[in-house]
Amino acid sequence: MSRPDATIAAEAQRILERLGVARDRFEAGTLAVRSPITGEPIGRVVETAAVAVPEAIRWAHAAFLRWQLVPAPRRGELVRLLGEELRTEKQALGRLVTLEVGKVVSEGLGEVQEMIDICDFAVGLSRQLHGLVLPSERPDHKLTEQWHPAGVVGIISAFNFPVAVWSWNAALALVCGDPLVWKPSEKAPLTALAVDALMRRAAARFGDDAPDGLATVLIGGQEVGEALVDDPRVPVVSATGSTRMGRAVGERLARRFAKPILELGGNNASIVTPSADLDLTLRAVAFAAMGTAGQRCTTLRRLMVHDDVYETLVGRLVAVYRTISVGSPVAGDALVGPLIDGAAFAAMGKALDAARAAGGTVHGGERVDVNGAASFYVRPALVEMPGQVGPVAEETFAPILYVLRYRDLDQAIALQNGVPQGLSSSIFGNDLREVERYLSAAGSDCGIANVNMGPSGAEIGGAFGGEKETGGGRESGSDAWRGYMRRQTNAINYGRTLPLAQGVTFEV
Ligand code: NAD
Repeated sequence: MSRPDATIAAEAQRILERLGVARDRFEAGTLAVRSPITGEPIGRVVETAAVAVPEAIRWAHAAFLRWQLVPAPRRGELVRLLGEELRTEKQALGRLVTLEVGKVVSEGLGEVQEMIDICDFAVGLSRQLHGLVLPSERPDHKLTEQWHPAGVVGIISAFNFPVAVWSWNAALALVCGDPLVWKPSEKAPLTALAVDALMRRAAARFGDDAPDGLATVLIGGQEVGEALVDDPRVPVVSATGSTRMGRAVGERLARRFAKPILELGGNNASIVTPSADLDLTLRAVAFAAMGTAGQRCTTLRRLMVHDDVYETLVGRLVAVYRTISVGSPVAGDALVGPLIDGAAFAAMGKALDAARAAGGTVHGGERVDVNGAASFYVRPALVEMPGQVGPVAEETFAPILYVLRYRDLDQAIALQNGVPQGLSSSIFGNDLREVERYLSAAGSDCGIANVNMGPSGAEIGGAFGGEKETGGGRESGSDAWRGYMRRQTNAINYGRTLPLAQGVTFEV
């Protein structure tokens, strides 16, 4: 596919203007943005000074005092309008995701589709933020539980899902009655400005019920993130990124007893059993391990293959790794685009060296020259390992798939669970006993466990997140909305006496 504009920068700027982002916000600032497709500069974004963060939060808190009083179904109407804006601008925003973080076109569009889906979900949810009525042990008493808006929600997001992660949080938080203060990745500020512009459009159509300060974007790095995390007017912080970041953020939040929603690194595994459909497995593994150039939190990083099918499956996989198309997302239909930057490339090289030193056999992994020295394209690497040694227990955010042999399912499950991370996992097989064992309490210890598909590509309807060093947070569907609200228990006495709980007497 050829580009209508001479450069990626020109196309990105045209999209930003179309979406209503003022030129001075992305042309005159101090934060340089580069497209990983060519390495060329595509913007200079105005940064938020850390000292300006408290003022932004003051506005957000003032917005909270009004927004919490707007009936939830009416709040849902704002999210419905946001979904409409996203539908209208799906092509433009999806394209900007591609230009800024290098996702192939269908994945850039898929990310915006995910935003639309969560908006639809949240609109329905705005009429279902239900509590409970519980039996009271006392006569003429009622016990209930209800959910109130929590307050300002801080959102810190990673570069690899630069807009979808915001929407998982934002759509739920808005219907729950909470304003948003978002610190996007410093590697993807342009898409954040674009989303901010669409949010403003939706708010303008919604009318005066949407107070100023309802949705704010703070541009900057760690220092700005820390100012957000430390502010006592922000009771909930949803932080998506590396485990290193989550540990720092989690500790700071714990110090002031704020609620964390931590979505951190994964080291996801799949188990291929002897009864697996190998054609289906091959396609699923290829997408899960190489899609998004290995830069999904749910990317498949470890594959445990049963001895009986190892030679057949791994032989076929090596052939796919040798031939998979690697290239520019805007100049063809390659399935694997660039790494985000040189640091990601260096980390991949280091992990492959460590794997070789630990006895691994590396297929692929070499640099591919697509657009010159300032961009970083690689052939995905498949690494046959003698065991779970060397770098296998770490998350390297690049397309490396470690392959291990196993003989016994319990051994494979132990290998899968034997890493610090616990995000996503899957099993391939048609033996009911093996599959159900994998899904049982004795099976996968991850937040997500799939059957006959890879660990990536979650739908928004389920709760998304993982255990252990993945942080324990849940976002998106199911009852994840509760993380954005505060629970209140109410005991109501509608009688004329005062019976005390547990039969306690206290006569005065
Ligand atoms: P990162 O940790 O480098 O940065 C993520 C965000 O945290 C950025 O906005 C960054 O500015 C901010 N940040 C960093 N240190 C901070 C601190 N001390 N205080 C406050 N904010 C801070 O991650 P990345 O390289 O952008 O993204 C890749 C990582 O994100 C991978 O580990 C991946 O698995 C993870 N991720 C997880 C999920 C999930 O849902 N579990 C989703 C996407 C990405």
